[in-house]
Amino acid sequence: MSGGLRLFVAAEPPEAVRDELALWARRAIGRSAAARRIAAESLHLTLCFLGEQPPAAFEEIAALLESMVELFFRVEDLAVGAPAWLPPRRPRVLAVEVGDPDGTLGALHASLARELAASLAWQPRHERFRPHITLARMRPGTERARELPPTPPLAFTPAALTLFRSDLEPSGAVYTPLASIPPI
Ligand code: ATP
Ligand code: MG
Repeated sequence: MSGGLRLFVAAEPPEAVRDELALWARRAIGRSAAARRIAAESLHLTLCFLGEQPPAAFEEIAALLESMVELFFRVEDLAVGAPAWLPPRRPRVLAVEVGDPDGTLGALHASLARELAASLAWQPRHERFRPHITLARMRPGTERARELPPTPPLAFTPAALTLFRSDLEPSGAVYTPLASIPPI
């Protein structure tokens, strides 16, 4: 779509958690030429990837985020889990799984996906929502590391639910926050 914006909605872990995860990724894969680690400030947990949307959709999505405030404030005690190579067969990313013991993140995701599908030309993916935070992208055709150190035992409450614009640059995607709850 020309003039479209590449958009996604993500939960942002608090800064201390992003820093710990980035540190773990550095220990796990270091300076491997096979991987590009994602900067601590860009780490996020994607809830809905919207792809290209017309710029006019922005207001509607921002309003929709605000309608999620109550569900968002119920989300707490998310747990950093095991590392995961995704997709499992031909992994392109190294991520950590995120546990959602009381299902509040799943409830937020379901509600957000339903509302977005009702108001945009967009359909959620068929796959089950599998909360994770991507830490590094693997270059195509490269071997994955065999052994990874244990992930840090972290529990966290997301700091924000944010609509991001993604610009795909040769050096990696650049994410720009457009709207957030709590407001930026
Ligand atoms: P690049 O695509 O250059 O490797 P990226 O994946 O970080 O970078 P985007 O493709 O714009 O940048 O994706 C933004 C966010 O949405 C990322 O968290 C990404 O994992 C997620 N995402 C992208 N495409 C999809 C998709 N088809 N389904 C689910 N999530 C997606
Ligand atoms: Mg991508």
